Amino acid sequence: MPPPEKNIAVVMLHGLCDMFCSFCVTENSMECMTKDQYAETLDHLGERGFDNIVIGGGEPFCWPHGLYQAAKMAKDKGFLVQVGTNGIKIPVDNVLPDCIDRFVLPLDGVTAEEHNRVRLYPEASGGHFRIIMDRLNHLKKAEYSVTVSTVVTRHTLATLSGIGDFLKNYVHSGGILHAWHLYCFIPEGRGGRLSARELGISSHEFESAVRDVRKRNYPFIIFKRPNMRHSAHVDFFWRQEGRLICGSQYWNQLDKLSRSGTL
Ligand code: SF4
Repeated sequence: MPPPEKNIAVVMLHGLCDMFCSFCVTENSMECMTKDQYAETLDHLGERGFDNIVIGGGEPFCWPHGLYQAAKMAKDKGFLVQVGTNGIKIPVDNVLPDCIDRFVLPLDGVTAEEHNRVRLYPEASGGHFRIIMDRLNHLKKAEYSVTVSTVVTRHTLATLSGIGDFLKNYVHSGGILHAWHLYCFIPEGRGGRLSARELGISSHEFESAVRDVRKRNYPFIIFKRPNMRHSAHVDFFWRQEGRLICGSQYWNQLDKLSRSGTL
């Protein structure tokens, strides 16, 4: 079998989440995969040549059939296993499970004010920024690999280099940072559609912001994601009316219909 064009599969287990972000692209209508559907999805991905899986949602720690179970099933089938999470439920008092190779965590500012204005979580808990700082420290101490993702919005444009500098210090103080992903805000999903006016930026602003941070020669890779739905290496999978949907095919079809004026 020739090597696949895309080798990273994001499996969206369900749409539920224990927080709300102003730019969330997830749809409330997303179906919850059963355990059997998840197992079938893994087999399908293996047959298509994917070797790297990002278990996501919604929030994968809230999947009713158990995130660790899902990670172990993927690990047993030979995938490199990443978990895209808001971090709230990453255990901080236990040894981290060895069926997960890497966590993907969000960071959208280097102060509580910057980050929490788009990552909404009860302030009584200290807010989401405090949780992310705790989790990054914990992962550093545990010598665990992490990828950090930032959604570039009208708010983040001015603070992007601050986030880059923070990550540089994280690496210099012993953190294992696999990469920094920069996603351009897209006005889709339960949060993105509501926040388009407040958070939207042009592709020119996005490109220019990424160029600026790349000039700073940070000691880690920066991935640019102008539209997360159209990536050369990543594809997305979820269930709709029980059927497995492949994101690239689904969104290409939608784009075609939209261009032809059918939508
Ligand atoms: S973007 Fe925020 S609300 Fe949406 S799934 Fe991720 S953590 Fe949950």
